[in-house]
Amino acid sequence: MSTHGIQQGRPNKARQVLQRTKRAPDELVKHIELANLIPPASELPDYNKLNEEVLDTLTSQGTPLDADAWHAQSLGAEIKFLHRHFPPEKFPQFYKYIGPLHSSREREIHDRVRNLFGTRALLDAIAGAQTNKGASPGKEIEIPYQATPMSVALALDGEGKLKVERWPLLNALVGVEANRIRRCSECPRIFWAGRIDKHACNDKCVNRRNVRLWREHYAERYKLQRVRKANAAESTGINSRNKTRRKSK
Ligand SMILES: [Zn+2]
Repeated sequence: MSTHGIQQGRPNKARQVLQRTKRAPDELVKHIELANLIPPASELPDYNKLNEEVLDTLTSQGTPLDADAWHAQSLGAEIKFLHRHFPPEKFPQFYKYIGPLHSSREREIHDRVRNLFGTRALLDAIAGAQTNKGASPGKEIEIPYQATPMSVALALDGEGKLKVERWPLLNALVGVEANRIRRCSECPRIFWAGRIDKHACNDKCVNRRNVRLWREHYAERYKLQRVRKANAAESTGINSRNKTRRKSK
């Protein structure tokens, strides 16, 4: 028998499951990992507050600052803000991503934090838009404010000509099945649903979900069954017979 024959003989259902399984696009995986370094957008501090705090620090200086002092002050305010909202002991990966906290990297750190906030907010928005079943063509997903500053940029090429640069995350999203970008039902993580019926991010969360659903959906029925059994036992006298049998052992 040829392998072709075996494949054709595969039951329909198994083939359907295979078709529904899709690997995450490599480019997108990186962005999802980044998004998971911080809590969901709904729990994040207002990004504008960070800018306000930095500005407050800079304008509260009595004497004019030279460039170095300016960067040092900005970074100081930014670190204060970040440590308050993302304690280093709770978010080690976050600090690894933003890199060494040195004033010469002030701009870069700022950009990385902004990129993280935007990535998380945009992926949350996509995951949140998938609550109702079925994709409606032409449906728009609003780009959250955290993600708008870097969504598109007008830049100059080497010859001084204008070009439009898209945020790498937007490029990574083009053509991707929106329905597979999900928020785990058990924890705050964003994940890629390789199988379309996957609703939790990893094995641990899948187990947790199964237990929770079992409790929610069957505990009530189990309770009912117990009541019914008790009632039946009462009317047939099974209960008392069981007791005497146990005693004789
Ligand atoms: Zn999870």
